[in-house]
Amino acid sequence: MTDCLFCKVVDGTIPATIVERTETTVAFRDIAPVSPTHVLVVPTRHVADLDEAVATDPGIAADLLTQCARVAAREGLADGYRVVINTRSDGGQTVQHLHAHVLGGRPHAWPPG
Ligand code: AMP
Ligand code: ZN
Repeated sequence: MTDCLFCKVVDGTIPATIVERTETTVAFRDIAPVSPTHVLVVPTRHVADLDEAVATDPGIAADLLTQCARVAAREGLADGYRVVINTRSDGGQTVQHLHAHVLGGRPHAWPPG
């Protein structure tokens, strides 16, 4: 998609600190981290949110979550981590390209805000 921020990160038009690329995902550091480790994992294929991904191909969601766990291991988050997928307005989604936040390096409280 031409006017999508994270499509531009995927294709390199917008610079990002890339953590790892796979055939179906790109992981990069969040520009405004809320935890010592804050990595975003996105599908290379443009889908707006989790529901669109599942409706298009559930494999997109499976690959995304698998890569979150791999990124957490690569980042050394042995004490645990949180994966967050904000979805549409009530979920607090601000970028309309599916992404998972991998948060670690500190305890994360529950419930979230
Ligand atoms: P969300 O609120 O779940 O849609 O999260 C969007 C995230 O994208 C926020 O945590 C932002 O800090 C992050 N973000 C926005 N622009 C960029 C960018 N150019 N590079 C990296 N992260 C970004
Ligand atoms: Zn996109």
